[in-house]
Amino acid sequence: MALIVQKYGGTSVGSVERIQAVAQRVYKTVKAGNSLVVVVSAMGKTTDGLVKLAKEISRNPNRREMDMLLSTGEQVTIALLTMALQELGQPAISMTGAQVGIVTEAEHSRARILHIETTRLTRNINEGKVVVVAGFQGTSSAKEMEITTLGRGGSDTSAVAIAAVLRASFCEIYTDVPGILTTDPRLVPEAQLMDAITCDEMLELASLGAKVLHPRAVEIARNYGVPLVVRSSWTDAPGTWVTSAKPQGRSLINLEIARPVDNVEFDTDQAKVALLRVPDKPGVAAKLFGEISRQKIDVDLIIQSINEGNSNDIAFTVRTPILKRAEAVAAAIAPALRSQSNPKLDEAEVMVEHNIAKVSIAGAGMIGRPGVAAKMFATLAAVGVNIQMISTSEVKVSCVVDAAECDRAVAALRTAFEIKAGEEGKRGQGRIIEETPPVRGVALDLNQARLAIRQLPDRPGMAAKLFGLLAQHNISVDMIIQSQRCRVIDGVPRRDIAFTVSQLDGESAKEMLTQVAAEFGWGEVVLDSAIAKVSIVGAGMLGQPGVAAKMFEALAQQQINIQMIATSEIKISCVVAQEQGVKALQAIHTAFGLAGSEKFVVPA
Ligand code: ASP
Ligand code: MG
Repeated sequence: MALIVQKYGGTSVGSVERIQAVAQRVYKTVKAGNSLVVVVSAMGKTTDGLVKLAKEISRNPNRREMDMLLSTGEQVTIALLTMALQELGQPAISMTGAQVGIVTEAEHSRARILHIETTRLTRNINEGKVVVVAGFQGTSSAKEMEITTLGRGGSDTSAVAIAAVLRASFCEIYTDVPGILTTDPRLVPEAQLMDAITCDEMLELASLGAKVLHPRAVEIARNYGVPLVVRSSWTDAPGTWVTSAKPQGRSLINLEIARPVDNVEFDTDQAKVALLRVPDKPGVAAKLFGEISRQKIDVDLIIQSINEGNSNDIAFTVRTPILKRAEAVAAAIAPALRSQSNPKLDEAEVMVEHNIAKVSIAGAGMIGRPGVAAKMFATLAAVGVNIQMISTSEVKVSCVVDAAECDRAVAALRTAFEIKAGEEGKRGQGRIIEETPPVRGVALDLNQARLAIRQLPDRPGMAAKLFGLLAQHNISVDMIIQSQRCRVIDGVPRRDIAFTVSQLDGESAKEMLTQVAAEFGWGEVVLDSAIAKVSIVGAGMLGQPGVAAKMFEALAQQQINIQMIATSEIKISCVVAQEQGVKALQAIHTAFGLAGSEKFVVPA
């Protein structure tokens, strides 16, 4: 007999008929010999309706009262579903978050779960009842008993957290789509349903998967090793399993980690190869990395910052033992990359650096939290470590620093982010799934804008200042890329830095950064809102040469120019012109063999 947690989303409980259908499914699962806790969302668009009501009364409603209001939606569903189960002769009891004892931070509208009492849940389960729990809600400390909510879409998080504390066999998330698809089916009808995906991949695909599964739920599943499956509540199809490595015996207190970073990683065995002044036109990255992949050279980070004039710099890191080969390829290809139109001005040049180290912070908690990257940069600045390269992904920020400074950097970061040595590291890299394809999914983000700051003084602390400022203004930054090219102006070595923000923040960020330009000593701030970010994600690309080359080649074939490149171990992102975004997505999706023969029909 298994203990299962099932979660039903809004559309799955959107009407009396749907609630009765859910009751039938629950009843069948119990009859098959299982114990069940069921977590539900508010019916249909109830939460949206409640938000609208509040906005009609107040332009800026009090957050405590918002939680009081929004938490009522789920309370309706738990009572109705429990009645439906009782009608079927199935003993059941409904419980609010407070009744269960879901204790959260006292942060209204975005509370994180601290711990969950299991006594009442377990007692009722042992009495043979199905416990129906209101998702998305909890209370602050037992003394205050303030009703809190976890943030929109938070019922997934409630369900996975309950599965974690009960050590349930697995958690099923029922929704109105059949599972997780290789890309957005509205843009690419050939998108296919995945059988499985690792939690790490899912987190990196946040911009694709967040609507299907709350990233915080994925984080809990990963940290506690909760097997998770996303399925349609309309069919019996198996859905998509979201897998994770074996749990590490983490404490169930402070369940949703209060800290945004849960790992500091480093690699001192790295070397950097940079190609300076290659032409800014389609096909250049494809040519370079195509050759590198033919030589079976495995590259780690790849970075291309924004162009300067009509040329780009592309840099990549490799493990030291293969540096010689990588350098030879780059040197051989450099002449061929020189711009035909202006061969003299655009001398491509190869630059190699041996003694570098890569230092990274990782953690799902940094999604949507401005200030985490800034804190990393400030920490490095405080111990006088200069950052040579920055590359970011959804759940990771990596900095390339001087190898001699690595220990100091790591020690400072561990202190700053409260990571005990030995606590981090060895996370299963998707070994749970037998065959891990190099690319699991492809995501397109059309809602970002790019800002570039020209001629930022190249000294410790500048990135910290810049991103600290953005964080103070509550502006979340996504991709951050620092240019390779360094030029001396007024006796100060300077580099450009480019990053992406939400389009909504573009104008105000530009204005704010322009205002302080003189004070901080940087140059022009350039905004481009017409960009698209296309990313491939897959744990199987680790240690497999040629994945980046294939992506760049797919773009080159469509004559799409790559404006920026950033990578993490399991993700490669390119910025391209906005109007080419969908074409880029389709080309890449097809290039990796993800397109199916059947078209996916998007539910109305
Ligand atoms: N009802 C809440 C919302 O619509 C929570 C949830 O459904 O996950 O955001
Ligand atoms: Mg949802």
